[in-house]
Amino acid sequence: MERRISILKFGGTSVGNGERIRQVAQIVARQAQQFEEDFPAVVVSAMAGVTDQLLRITRSITMGEFEAGQREVDALKAKHLEAALVVAHSPAERTRLLAALEEAFSRFAEDVERLRSAGTEDVPLRTAAVAAWGERLSVLLVASALRACGVAAEAVREEVIIIEAPRSEIPYVPGTVIGAEPLAEETRKHAARLVLPLLEQGTVPVMAGFIGRTLDGVVATLGRNGSDYSAAVIGAALACAQVEIYTDVDGVLTADPRVVPNALLLPYLSYAEAAQLSWFGAKVLHPRTLIPLAMRNVPVRVRNTFRPHAPGTVVGPLGKQRSSATAITVRRQLALITVESRHLFGAPENVGQIFALAARAGITPVAVCSSSGHHLSFVIEEKMAETVVELLQQDLENWKVSSRTGLAACACIGSGFTANPMSPARATTALARERIPVITQGASDLGIILIIEDRDSERALRSLHRDLIAPVIPLVRHHRTPEKLREAVR
Ligand code: ADP
Ligand code: ASP
Ligand code: MG
Repeated sequence: MERRISILKFGGTSVGNGERIRQVAQIVARQAQQFEEDFPAVVVSAMAGVTDQLLRITRSITMGEFEAGQREVDALKAKHLEAALVVAHSPAERTRLLAALEEAFSRFAEDVERLRSAGTEDVPLRTAAVAAWGERLSVLLVASALRACGVAAEAVREEVIIIEAPRSEIPYVPGTVIGAEPLAEETRKHAARLVLPLLEQGTVPVMAGFIGRTLDGVVATLGRNGSDYSAAVIGAALACAQVEIYTDVDGVLTADPRVVPNALLLPYLSYAEAAQLSWFGAKVLHPRTLIPLAMRNVPVRVRNTFRPHAPGTVVGPLGKQRSSATAITVRRQLALITVESRHLFGAPENVGQIFALAARAGITPVAVCSSSGHHLSFVIEEKMAETVVELLQQDLENWKVSSRTGLAACACIGSGFTANPMSPARATTALARERIPVITQGASDLGIILIIEDRDSERALRSLHRDLIAPVIPLVRHHRTPEKLREAVR
C-alpha cells in the first residue's frame, strides 16, 4: 500500500452506544476517503462498562451465583443488540451483523461454561477468556458501522497481539484479569499475516484492543485499561506513522478534569513527561503505551471523539524546544513499605534483594521514596501490601518490615515545573496551606511526588493545580437593587 498507516484507537466511551459508534465510523470514513491522509487501521475497546460487567459475570459464576450471572449475560446481549440495530440500517448489513453477533454470543456462552467447570488453577485464564468478549463484540459493531458509511471494512476476529504465556506464580485475585506481556517480533509476523492483506486491498481492519493470544492460542489480556497499550503494540507491528488515541476529553490536560474542572489542555508533551503522568495516575493514557512507540519516534496524538476538529495533544520526540508543560496527577490506593535493619546497618546488596523479592511476586514499586544504610522505603499498590510484607519478612530475618496503607501519590510533573526552582517549595506550601500533611516525598528530573493520605488526595490535587497552574477565579455576584436592575435593562 502506498499510503502510510495510522492507528485510530477508540476507547470505551467512544463506542458506548450505537449513536457513538456511528460517530466513530464517520471519523474513520473521513480519514479513509482523504487520499492525502494516512490510511486508518482501527483498534477498539469494549463498550463502556462491558469489561466490568464481564468480570462481574466471572465472579458470579465462580461463586456459584448462576442466576445473577445469567441476568448480567442477558443485559450484555441486549446492550449489543440494541447498538446493532442503530449501526446497521440496511437489511443486508443488519442480517450480516446479527448473525455475527449470534455466533459470538454462543461462543461466549461456551467460554462461560468452561469457567463454570474450571478447577482452581484454570480460573485465571478462563476468566481472561470471558473478559476478552467485550472487545470481540465491539469489533463486529464498529466494522459494520463503517460498512454502513460505505467504507470497505472487516472485523479481525483473531487476536493480533502475540503474548508470552502468563506467569502462574503471581498471586491471583479472583474476578480480576492478569496482564500478559506482548512479544514484538511474533506480533509483527502475526500482524503481517492477519492484517496486511486487508490493508493491501484498501479494507480498513477493525481490531480488538486489550487482548492477545499465546502462540498456542491461549487468550489473555494486557491488563485493565490496556487497549491504549495494545494500539501501540499493533502500531509498532504494522510500522505505522502515528497512533491516534480517541477518547472522551480534548487531550492530556493539566489534571483530571473530573476533579479539576478548569484543567487546561497540554498541546505537546515529551514521551518521558507523558509516561510519568500516566504512571502517576493520568488514566487518559495507559502507562505502557509509549514503550513500543518512543524507541521508533512514532508520535501519539490524544483526541476527543466528540470534538474531532479539536487539535488534541501530541506526545512525541523532544525537539529543540521544550514542552514547558506542568501537570498534576494523583495515584491512589497506595501503601508505603518501610524496611529497616535491626542493627542500624545493612549491606548494599539488601536493596537489590528487596526489589528482587518483590518482583518475584509480580510487584513493581510505584516510587522509591528514601533510602539510607539501614532503611529503605517505597510505595506499592495497597492491595499487594500484605503479600509484600509477608514475603519480605520471611526472607529478611534481621530486618523489620512495616506497611502504612491508605495513601496516595501526588505528582507534579513537566519541564514547566522543573524550570522554576521555586516550584517544589510552592507545591509543599500549597498543601501546607490546606493543612494536608506530606508523609514522605520523592523526586526525579521531571518533577516531584508527594505522598499524602488518600482521603486528602482530591483536595490536594485541586490546591496544587490552583497554586501552580491555574488560579480559580471566583464568580463574584454583585448584589443589585431593583433600581440598578432597571438601569441595567435600560
Ligand atoms: P478511554 O475509555 O477512551 O480509554 P479513559 O477513561 O481510560 O478513556 O481515559 C480518559 C479519562 O481519563 C478522561 O475522561 C479523564 O477523566 C481521565 N483523566 C485523568 N487524568 C487526566 C488528564 N491529566 N488529562 C486528561 N484526562 C484525564
Ligand atoms: N476494556 C478494557 C478495560 O475496560 C480495556 C480498555 O478499555 O482499555 O479495562
Ligand atoms: Mg483508557
